[in-house]
Amino acid sequence: MADEHDHDLLVLGAGPGGYVAAIRAAQLGMNVGIVDKEKALGGTCLRVGCIPSKALLESSEKYEEAGHALKTHGVDVGSVKLDLKAMLKRKDGVVDQLTKGVGMLMKKNKAKVYTGLASFVDPHTVAVTDPKGKTTHVTARRTIIATGSKPATLPGVDLSMDKVDTSTEAIDYDAVPEHLAVIGGGYIGLELGSVWRRLGSKVTVVEYLDRVLPGMDAGLAKEAHKMLKKQGLLFELKSKVTGVKPAGDKMIIERDGGDPVEADRVLVAVGRKPMTDGLNLEAIGVATNDRGHIPVDHDFKTSVDSVYAIGDVIPTAMLAHVAEEEGVACVEKIVTGAGHVPYDAIPAVVYTHPEIASVGQTEEQLKDAGTAYAIGKFPFMANGRAKAIAQTDGFVKVLADKSTDRVLGVHIIGPHAGDLIAECATAMTFGASSEDIARACHAHPTLSEAVKEACFDVEGRVVHM
Ligand code: FAD
Repeated sequence: MADEHDHDLLVLGAGPGGYVAAIRAAQLGMNVGIVDKEKALGGTCLRVGCIPSKALLESSEKYEEAGHALKTHGVDVGSVKLDLKAMLKRKDGVVDQLTKGVGMLMKKNKAKVYTGLASFVDPHTVAVTDPKGKTTHVTARRTIIATGSKPATLPGVDLSMDKVDTSTEAIDYDAVPEHLAVIGGGYIGLELGSVWRRLGSKVTVVEYLDRVLPGMDAGLAKEAHKMLKKQGLLFELKSKVTGVKPAGDKMIIERDGGDPVEADRVLVAVGRKPMTDGLNLEAIGVATNDRGHIPVDHDFKTSVDSVYAIGDVIPTAMLAHVAEEEGVACVEKIVTGAGHVPYDAIPAVVYTHPEIASVGQTEEQLKDAGTAYAIGKFPFMANGRAKAIAQTDGFVKVLADKSTDRVLGVHIIGPHAGDLIAECATAMTFGASSEDIARACHAHPTLSEAVKEACFDVEGRVVHM
C-alpha cells in the first residue's frame, strides 16, 4: 500500500503561491501534499494582507461617502455613525469564507493538507510539527518552498513593544486611534493610513525619502501625495526614524532632522522580509542571499536539485499575483518543461481613493536606461463616465517606445485604476503598440475610454481634449 505521507510534490506554505502551485500540480496529475503552520489556509494574503485590508478599505470608503460624498449625488443620509465592531466582523467574515474556500479547493484537488511547522530533515524529507507538538515525517520527490514573508522593521523600532504595530494588528484595532503614526509611505502604509484616517484618526505618515510610493512612477506618486494630503493625511517626508519609545500613554517617534512625532499608536510599514524561520535550510544546503531571500534559477530551482522556491520568499516582486504566476510556472516547468511569468508586464495596484495602478517601466527607468519614449496622457476630468460618477481626479499616462510605439509602461491614478490596468497588462503581454490599444473599440461611457485616449495622445491624436 502506498505511504499516505509520501508525495510527488510537497508544497511548504499555503499562501497564494503555494496553494495555486498545489492545484496546478494536481491538475497535471501529481500526488500533492501541502503544509501550513496556520489552520486557516491562504497565507498572508487571505488571512492578514490583501483581503482584510481591501475589505476595510471598502467599508471605510463607504463610511466616508455616507458622511461626505453622497451629498454631491443629492443623497442626504443625515448624521452617520461608525459601528467599528460590525465593520471588523464583516472583514473577518470575508477572510473566513475565503480561507475555507482554499480548504475546499485542496479537497477538490485531492491535495493532502498538513497543519504544522515544516522543517527539512533532508532534501526529500520534511518534519511537520503540529500545534500539539506531534511530528509527522512527510517525504516527496520534489518540494516547493512558498513560505512567504513577514514584516520588516528599522533599527531602534521594536515590534514587540505595546502600541508598536505591524499591518497584522492595524487591520484589527478595536478602537479608532486618536493619532496614528505610520512609518513608511509605501502601499501598505498609505492603504491602512487611509482606512484609519477615514474612520476618524489623525494620521501622520513618516517617510525616509522625499516622496511616497518608492518604485512607482514619480509623476504618479507626486499626484498621489497631493490627493492624499488633500484628504487630510499628514506627511513628514525626508524623515529618518531613529527610534520609537513610550512616553506616558503616548508613543514618541524620534527622527533625524525634525521634531519627534507624538502619537497614540505606531504602524510600522517599512516593507516585508522573506520568511524562512524554522525551515532548517542549512541542513539541506539551500542558500539564501544577504537579504534572506532564496535565490532561484529560471526554473525556480534553488541551490538543491529537488527543492524549488516561489513567491515572497524569492527575490521577485512581493505581490500575491506574482506568487500565483510563479506557482503555476514552477509546476509547469517541472511537469512539462514549459512555464513562464511575464515579469515585464506585472501590474501593481494601490487601493487608496482614488486607486493607483502601474504596469511596466516608469519614466525614470526609461530615462536611466536611455530608452527613447513618447508619452500619452489623458485626465479623467475629460472622461464622461468619470464626470457621471463624480470622480474626476487623476489621469492615465502611457509610455511607448519612440520608434516602434510598443507600450513600455502605463501609470494610472483615478477611479478604478486597478481594473483599468488589466487591459494594459494584457496588451503589454502580447507586445501591443499604443495604437493597437487606441484602435480597439472601448464601450461608451466607460473609464476605459481614458486609456484609449491616452494611447491616442501618444501620437497627438487625442479626441476629447
Ligand atoms: P504568503 O502569503 O506569506 O504565505 C506563506 C505561508 O507559509 C503562510 O501561510 C505561512 O503560515 C506559511 N509558512 C511559513 N513558514 C512556514 C513553515 N516553516 N511551516 C509551515 N508553514 C509555513 N499583494 C497583492 O498582490 N495585492 C495586495 O493588495 C496586497 N495587499 C497586502 C496588504 C497587506 C497588509 C500585506 C501584509 C500584504 C499585501 N500583499 C498584497 C502582499 C501579499 O500578501 C503577498 O505578496 C503574498 O501573500 C505572498 O504570497 P506567498 O504565497 O509567497 O506567501
